[in-house]
Amino acid sequence: LSDRLTQTFSALRTKGKLSPADVDKTVREIRRALLDADVALPVVKDFTSTVRERALGDEVNKALNPAQQVVQIVNEELVAILGGEQRRLEFAKNPPTVIMLAGLQGAGKTTLAGKLAKWLKAQGHTPLLVAADLQRPNAVTQLQVVGEQAGAAVFAPEPGNGIGDPVRVAKDAVQFARTRLHDVVIVDTAGRLGVDAELMKQASNIRKAVDPDEVLFVIDAMIGQDAVATAQAFQEGVDFTGVVLSKLDGDARGGAALSVASVTGRPIMFASTGEGLDDFEPFHPDRMASRILDLGDILSLIEQAQKAFDQDEAQKVAEKFATDTFTLEDFLAQMQQLKKMGSIKGMLGMLPGARGMREQLDNFDESEITRTEAIIQSMTPAERRMPKLLNGSRRLRIARGSGTTVTEVNALVNRFEQAAKMMKTVAKGGVPNVPGMGPI
Ligand code: GDP
Ligand code: MG
Repeated sequence: LSDRLTQTFSALRTKGKLSPADVDKTVREIRRALLDADVALPVVKDFTSTVRERALGDEVNKALNPAQQVVQIVNEELVAILGGEQRRLEFAKNPPTVIMLAGLQGAGKTTLAGKLAKWLKAQGHTPLLVAADLQRPNAVTQLQVVGEQAGAAVFAPEPGNGIGDPVRVAKDAVQFARTRLHDVVIVDTAGRLGVDAELMKQASNIRKAVDPDEVLFVIDAMIGQDAVATAQAFQEGVDFTGVVLSKLDGDARGGAALSVASVTGRPIMFASTGEGLDDFEPFHPDRMASRILDLGDILSLIEQAQKAFDQDEAQKVAEKFATDTFTLEDFLAQMQQLKKMGSIKGMLGMLPGARGMREQLDNFDESEITRTEAIIQSMTPAERRMPKLLNGSRRLRIARGSGTTVTEVNALVNRFEQAAKMMKTVAKGGVPNVPGMGPI
């Protein structure tokens, strides 16, 4: 989606006033981009006609930079479809809060159960996971594994009792939660590869039995044109209060997000971005919109960085950035922190312009960090604190000591200087202009 929009918008950016022909051309391109991204046709039609109307109106005519104004309109309309403001989970006045998960098999429900549990635990909740998927033999075990990883209790039918009744299990679980002071109950349910009347009925019965505060419909962001039909079937069959987009780490082009939100009118509440329990975040419509527009997702990036950094550490580093006393030693420590963050590729994907670097992203490998570590470790403490000391012969010594080349040492020093410059801007509250940052 974004590649084509980026092209269209770059063409616009070089123009002054917009003629109606410009607007039409732009709208046509937006339409094609959205269709290419598997956004459903009625959604595309609605979207483009709104954008066209606004783009031909006064707000654009009177704008200092009409092209930018159109980008702004597209952005605003995307945000509006994606749900406007971010919506938070509704918690019950009388605990436990019951959250039920629904969706096709493989959508990511069980994984999401673990992610939610871990996330809720970190906020001081005491979640209970409930195995109400009794369809597949290993579904209960899978939830137990996920629960263990999340450090959350799992309620499952006793083994040996034959095939349990998922409705009964869900009901018992809520009762159990009440007596054991679990304040949130997350009910995992069964799905099939396609929409299936029997399982839909089962999900609907579970819903009636436990009267959930939230029913989250989990959908694979890569599902493409099937998104609309699937979402509508679940809306009719079970109804849901919010949507969770999973597998946003894949090559998803954002189409499913737009279609589902637009067709069901339900907000997208969370985004799943990987198989790990930490690959998960509340959904921000504005950020998704700018991601679609390829403006980059600086806010998510910074937030993710904050999560991995120890709070004090982050404070210290921020001060160093602001006062220009950030050294290669700090850089090394930071890089080691970054490793903890897991998916470095995911981080890179959020940088502006990173979409155009897809090939580089695919070639990126973490051994580069290891080489960077080796280079910094081959420096003397004085050199790490004062990279200015690094003249030609020192660089040669470091290259030899770390088993790298002088070119690599030079590249690292340059990258460090750019990163320090950028972070200094961020620390002062500015918006960074991210250059080719290399492996951070
Ligand atoms: P369920 O059938 O709906 O319960 O789906 P699962 O939770 O079992 O997930 C199906 C597969 O998708 C598993 O292999 C998960 O590891 C994987 N998965 C789930 N969420 C994500 C995600 O956000 N990104 C990626 N890449 N894989 C995911
Ligand atoms: Mg499952």
